[in-house]
Amino acid sequence: MFVDSHVNLHSENYEDDAAAVIARARAAGVTAMLTISDKLSSTDAIKAIADGDELIWRSVGVHPHYAKEYPDLAADRLVAMAADENVVGIGECGLDFYYEHSDRSVQERVFAAHIAASRKTGLPLIIHTRDADERMREMLEGGQREGAFVPLLHCYTGGPALAEAVLEMGGYVSFSGIITFKNASDVRTVAEATPMDRIIIETDCPYLAPVPMRGRRNEPAYLTHVAEKLAELKQLSLEEVEKQTTDNFFRLFTRASDPRPVS
Ligand SMILES: [Zn+2]
Repeated sequence: MFVDSHVNLHSENYEDDAAAVIARARAAGVTAMLTISDKLSSTDAIKAIADGDELIWRSVGVHPHYAKEYPDLAADRLVAMAADENVVGIGECGLDFYYEHSDRSVQERVFAAHIAASRKTGLPLIIHTRDADERMREMLEGGQREGAFVPLLHCYTGGPALAEAVLEMGGYVSFSGIITFKNASDVRTVAEATPMDRIIIETDCPYLAPVPMRGRRNEPAYLTHVAEKLAELKQLSLEEVEKQTTDNFFRLFTRASDPRPVS
């Protein structure tokens, strides 16, 4: 089985056919998924999806684009929301200095609340970072000095230094369909350098459909194209990539229970 570690199933793109999308994922071997919070007002919709399915977990958090809607977000609010048993991670959260939809100072304050919530709950921190490698690294390293938490760089497109810093903290890196894009050789270089026991995979659907689906609406069934590209980069079989990334997912997201039979 594959796990799609980052899906946005509450997206309006799936309004009409979410059940069919999930069924196609499972037919493709993508048995489990983690559906991600973008803002707190989406929580009811996300919870309804996860509550209805034993192999769909969820996160709580605020994407940096929406940080301005929650400028005074307290870590304890996230901690309270994370008490529900199908919440397995904090995020997605972070810094986006490319789009900068929220002021940088607000993004940083809201991200700091997520770091504190990750530390308090022991749940991994699901990080979105764009054009912010240096500040991200400073905030993560500063956060670690106050107490440990486990970072995950999702849909990673940053440089090697930030990835190495996160690995040093015991963290993980997630790669998406971007590794299949022709112009993404820098991302492939980082994937090649990241140890196989620290990599997980995702579609980030409905965005970023991998080649050969590029340009279409993305969905979790297409995760196999990400896995195939990773197998090629790592010179591994698809089965090895499947087993290793699934093992890694359950080692990282300790609150999600692994349905595979114990071998
Ligand atoms: Zn993201």
